[in-house]
Amino acid sequence: MVLKPEFKRVILKLSGEALGGPKGTGIDEAIVSVVTDQIKELSDNGVEVAVVIGGGNFWRGRTSEKMDRSTADYMGMMATVINALALQDSCEQKGLNTRVMSAIEMRQIAEPYIKRRAVRHLEKGRVVIFAAGIGNPFFSTDTTAALRAAEIEAEVILLAKKVDGVYDSDPNENPNAKKYTTMTHDDVINNKLGVMDTTAATLCFENSIPILVFGLDDPKNIIKACEGENIGTLIK
Ligand code: UDP
Repeated sequence: MVLKPEFKRVILKLSGEALGGPKGTGIDEAIVSVVTDQIKELSDNGVEVAVVIGGGNFWRGRTSEKMDRSTADYMGMMATVINALALQDSCEQKGLNTRVMSAIEMRQIAEPYIKRRAVRHLEKGRVVIFAAGIGNPFFSTDTTAALRAAEIEAEVILLAKKVDGVYDSDPNENPNAKKYTTMTHDDVINNKLGVMDTTAATLCFENSIPILVFGLDDPKNIIKACEGENIGTLIK
């Protein structure tokens, strides 16, 4: 299909939960396939796609009550590597060339993250999957998305979530929750709506990176987001 993408280089942030499908845990291969079908369509249409993958479908450092926080966070980073490999496998089955770049060295399964190399891969039409967050505890993969977007000069962060945008309250608990179509980075930072952590939002604000928050409920939403369709919530 011929697309009219609005962006040339994007960061697609996928939460681990999104890959977990309805259960939100483990890896739902059918969901992964829906995601990689869209990545392929974008890539075939000349969009340079870099993916930042979360790990919440397996483990989040902050959920541990007793564990040393750094250890718990490193476990979370490992979880993102598992997801990255699942995504890579699915992409390659569809004929896409991909590179997993890990912020923690794991030479047998991933390249180390080197910015210039990442950009080169993208320019050559390879899909780059960023694994292991930024490689440091006390950060999130949303912050990773913001940092990598700034580094590789992505035009937008496509933030794919389980919820289809930003609401003034939890739509799962409040049937009258109102969805925002647009908001500013400041709103995200000050309202503490839980869209993304403030570190990530601040980094996006300081580097003027827009974020489009949308749901994976529609199997074409990543493409729609990239074509600039009015889905979800645009933060700019
Ligand atoms: N994490 C980290 N540093 C990073 C990125 C991630 O310590 O730079 C850890 C942290 O424990 C986090 C987990 O990895 O909870 C999984 O990432 P995240 O919670 O962002 O995944 P998502 O919610 O997007 O699935």
